[in-house]
Amino acid sequence: MNSSVYSNDISEVVEADRAHLWHHLIQHKPFETSDPRVIVEGKGMRVWDAKGKELLDAVSGGVWTVNVGYGRESIAKAVYDQLIKVNYFANSAGSIPGSIFAKRLIEKMPGMSRVYYTNSGSEANEKAFKMIRQIAHKRYGGKKHKILYRDRDYHGATIATMSAGGQDERNAQYGPFVPGFVKVPHCLEYRKQWDVANYGERAADAIEEVILREGPDTIGALCLEPVTAGGGVITPPEGYWERVQEICKKYEILLHIDEVVCGVGRTGTWFGYQHYGIKPDFVTMAKGVASGYAAIACMVTTEAVFEMFKDDASDPMNYFRDISTFGGCTAGPAAAIENMRIIEDEGLLENTVKMGERTMNNLRALMDKHRVIGDVRGKGLFCGAELVADRATKEPADEKKVQAVVAECAAQGVLIGATNRSLPGFNNTLCLSPALIATADDIDQITGAIDKALTKVFS
Ligand code: PLP
Repeated sequence: MNSSVYSNDISEVVEADRAHLWHHLIQHKPFETSDPRVIVEGKGMRVWDAKGKELLDAVSGGVWTVNVGYGRESIAKAVYDQLIKVNYFANSAGSIPGSIFAKRLIEKMPGMSRVYYTNSGSEANEKAFKMIRQIAHKRYGGKKHKILYRDRDYHGATIATMSAGGQDERNAQYGPFVPGFVKVPHCLEYRKQWDVANYGERAADAIEEVILREGPDTIGALCLEPVTAGGGVITPPEGYWERVQEICKKYEILLHIDEVVCGVGRTGTWFGYQHYGIKPDFVTMAKGVASGYAAIACMVTTEAVFEMFKDDASDPMNYFRDISTFGGCTAGPAAAIENMRIIEDEGLLENTVKMGERTMNNLRALMDKHRVIGDVRGKGLFCGAELVADRATKEPADEKKVQAVVAECAAQGVLIGATNRSLPGFNNTLCLSPALIATADDIDQITGAIDKALTKVFS
């Protein structure tokens, strides 16, 4: 692919960037003198930067988003066709793509019934939190209002979602946070907190202990990622979800599953929770819903929850008093309908299962060669390799070296990720989330680059 046309203009782009852009998640001072990577084209699994360098993208746009890969003309066309018909009308009215996508989505989510559109994953989670609070007021005199969240889980960047944020390093300096959010332990078996055989049940019991400490009549909901993403690619141990559900049922606690990363195919099922027989009350999703071709996120709930908001029409407060100007804006659901069709017609869920297994097998094989890999975890095309300085003590690998592995892979033409920085024990996991169209050759190229990078950085 020829990107030279962009190269000619790149100095102007970089100048404008340096002068006016405030990048996400970037330390500003080092960035001033760094050589920024400007992505100018994408096709399938690959992107090209402004210098014409081809990169195999094993992180789907950096943050687990471009599930169906780059350059999908049919999605661009669906968005174009919709925009020239009608680009916008507030979502208190209906739209053709908004209604049709809601119907198609619910067909993939037995037991769920209603779709509420938002712009981002954070906002979708905020909507669920607001509903949970309103239910507490309507049903329990405001008492059952607390929301439990898990250590290491992430639910967004707004103050309320950070109040439910289990990654302390992200929250530092942004408090005080919203009251009524209570942390429970995570369930990562590799870094055991309890020395027991039935680790999954024990980790779930730890949630019950918090419920009993706080008072079950104060707890409205439990919010969890089915597989924790940025917190370290944490897959649940056996027996965990069964017990979590029992606990929620026992204490009448609503279950809110954050599928912002796992949703729409990433783990090999439409939704991550569907691997574990979970019956959620709320499901939130964003990244893969339209693979980044348009901004769309959704909060999905059950008919039982919807009914709670319409049981007394004589009460003027009895509805969800909330709006999102761009939530459900027509381009989003138009892109999402086509995104879903592609996943179905191209058998991408099946491919995700197959290629996910290949990725895990390749990573496990690397464990034999590289003692720095302490643990390999994953579900579908959502995999992680935790790097440790010492397998016996599990002391995390030096963060600079972890970053050096990421940089070395990029130098070889493969973009991989690593978990968030700054908290010992969790900043050391390499993350892979290639598009669901990945082939065996792509997977081998990705893990091959990791192999070479580990050799270079750690020997
Ligand atoms: N929930 C999870 C699990 C996420 O990983 C993210 C973002 O990475 C969010 C919520 C927030 O989504 P957004 O950045 O679209 O607000």
